[in-house]
Amino acid sequence: MRCERSWLLISLLGVACAACSHGAAGTSATETGPLATLRESVLASSQALETVRSLTDEAGPRLSGSPGNQVGIAWAVRALGEAGFSRVHTELCAVPHWERGVEEGAIVEPSAQPLALAALGGSVGTAPEGLTAEVIEAASLEALDKLDPAAVKGKVVFFSGVMERTRDGSGYGAAVRPRGSGASHAAKLGAAAMLIRSVGTDDNRAPHTGALRYDDAVPKIPAAALAIPDADVLHRLLAQGKRVRVHLKLGARTLPDAEGANVVGDVEGSAAPGEIVLLGAHLDSWDLGRGALDDGAGVAIVMEAGRQIGKLAHHPRRTVRVVLFANEENGLRGATAYAAAHAAELDKHVLAIEADLGDGRVYEARFLGDPASAPAFRVVAAAAAPLGVLASGDDAHGGSDLIPLVAAGVPAMDLRQDATHYFDFHHTANDTFERVHKADLDQAAAAFAAAAYAAADAPGDFGRVPADKRHRD
Ligand SMILES: [Zn+2]
Repeated sequence: MRCERSWLLISLLGVACAACSHGAAGTSATETGPLATLRESVLASSQALETVRSLTDEAGPRLSGSPGNQVGIAWAVRALGEAGFSRVHTELCAVPHWERGVEEGAIVEPSAQPLALAALGGSVGTAPEGLTAEVIEAASLEALDKLDPAAVKGKVVFFSGVMERTRDGSGYGAAVRPRGSGASHAAKLGAAAMLIRSVGTDDNRAPHTGALRYDDAVPKIPAAALAIPDADVLHRLLAQGKRVRVHLKLGARTLPDAEGANVVGDVEGSAAPGEIVLLGAHLDSWDLGRGALDDGAGVAIVMEAGRQIGKLAHHPRRTVRVVLFANEENGLRGATAYAAAHAAELDKHVLAIEADLGDGRVYEARFLGDPASAPAFRVVAAAAAPLGVLASGDDAHGGSDLIPLVAAGVPAMDLRQDATHYFDFHHTANDTFERVHKADLDQAAAAFAAAAYAAADAPGDFGRVPADKRHRD
């Protein structure tokens, strides 16, 4: 405990020194040497924005099973090679193949007007002629479960919960639960379909899609997200006691699994090349936009971090491996396949970090590993301190693609990005290149590069994640 506190003090002093970049007090271990060179090089010569442009222009949307996903895989192999990575290769895995098809929605009572909506990923379609039914509102899963099934039967359940805008994106976790399981909750009560107020923070008419999960024990009913202004019309009409009926026509369907792939490239370590610091992002995206923020930005951040580390005269001791995961959005099949294919060497994966929160600046680092390794984690965090990154004592969550690795005990680090504006565009048609900000993206790439280098060059490792922290809810 005392040891940990003294490291915290050193870490905080490092931040304080970094904040005063002029004068004698500004000298610290992180301000000279390869780490300083690396951070400055990323900020001065980052290609991250060009990487996002290239991926999103050339491949476009990259939903698993779509032609764009295959173009994205070929793009990644080429781009990792051009960026100087070694052992660039694909690792194949089967991925779900879901198609959106036609989608139409309208209020038909009390007055006729169109609704902007998007089917949730994995949703079944309606009958070809669509369905027309009365709407019943529930603010949450718990509120729905309190309703009389007789009042729900045959109706369209409308989840109206509002996502809160926060810097850390925590409003998403709170609001997303009805999107995942609301359709089956509603089906259990006999509902005909499910609508949800988009899980987002904007006020425009681009609906936010995202995956749902059906409970196999109940009928699968169609489910769609309403654009936020359209959801709010329903909410206001219902609040006035009006009877509201809607018409929905969804052509969504699930086809047999398709082929997908993780794309992997290494920056080989100079002394312990078999030990790995993994930088992850996901190559797939939803179909509505072009996956620029989610997760083209993350792909660009980890590729740029690896590219810049690879350019250094001396590589860090361990290998820095970039993994561009398949199928994060609707299945995590890539993450599962990576952990299975590399099961025999997961004890050599010393740390994993994922970039999957857009182009926001990194403001905080937190860790999940052996608590006795906290001092070593603090050294890694200090590598990014001159970029304004503070170390937190809270446990890291790890990204979605890291779930199977953390479950196997691989330590994870979060480089938390500012997500204040991310959920204005997340999973919408507006997730395009125009949304990405170069200065923020480059700061994030520099933070990932510095932390990855420090972890890969650390003398010791970070232990294993304790058994009681390997599985998250
Ligand atoms: Zn993502």
